[in-house]
Amino acid sequence: MMSARQPVAFLPAPAPHWVGDGFFVVPLFADLAFSEEVSPFLMLDYAAPHEFAPRTKPPGVGAHPHRGFETVTIVYHGEVEHRDSAGNAGTIGPGDVQWMTAGSGLLHEEFHSREQTKRGGLVSMAQLWVNLPAKDKSTPPAYQTILNAQIPVVDLGGGSRLRVVAGAYAEAKGPARTFSDLHVWDIELKAGADVVLPIAAGDNVMVAHFTGTLHVVGQDLPQPGLLMFAKVGEAIALSAKSDVKCLVLSGKPLGEPIAAHGPFVMNTQEEIRQAIIDFRAGKMGRLEDFESQGA
Ligand code: MN
Repeated sequence: MMSARQPVAFLPAPAPHWVGDGFFVVPLFADLAFSEEVSPFLMLDYAAPHEFAPRTKPPGVGAHPHRGFETVTIVYHGEVEHRDSAGNAGTIGPGDVQWMTAGSGLLHEEFHSREQTKRGGLVSMAQLWVNLPAKDKSTPPAYQTILNAQIPVVDLGGGSRLRVVAGAYAEAKGPARTFSDLHVWDIELKAGADVVLPIAAGDNVMVAHFTGTLHVVGQDLPQPGLLMFAKVGEAIALSAKSDVKCLVLSGKPLGEPIAAHGPFVMNTQEEIRQAIIDFRAGKMGRLEDFESQGA
């Protein structure tokens, strides 16, 4: 019998804010963002389903830089389009994941797809920031499109299921290439489900709770929010009172200093200053205006 880790904190979602005009998000890591408590992850924005009217100009966020970490976008409803200065572009829809490694630095833009913009409708997504180990912070930028069909699905019984986006669950391996030891499980629990999920010794683990009612130590948890677990024990136990959608994030803490400033996440303030200088000097590349592409 695996010993279950105790839940130690539940962080209700802070107030939502707009990212550009396309994504109405709650920063679920709240005050723990960019801390060793959540390493190797940095932060998580969740955009609950939001209805958009049809329009002509894609909502979203225009060209901006990143350096020193990875952005992982999981789409639940609608379609999101990405383009970056390393020459990568792609459109992802429900169940698809985009794993972008900013590494040494790039510029990118994140919009609703042109089709999505024209027809309007629900858009829901999560964007996770994953830190890079110090030795990999200047890796060349990279981009992985991970389609729903490529993501292994583990049957948890009774209609509950777990998608392995990164890392592994039992024999199932996630398609994402990662720079440190981590697991991203996208989970749907049916009402009444009681599941026990194994967690490796020494890993941080947290549950980003999006929808439905999780029942933990005699309490119904409001959603969305973040459930933190103790560092001791070999598994976590989750009970669902109604159908639940959540993301379970676990991984080895990097144990390295974190210097975060806006779109840059490095190890020292000196590296942050250098990132700002390099960005201003155009060393993170250029991104022509979307409209000027004639696309
Ligand atoms: Mn971005």
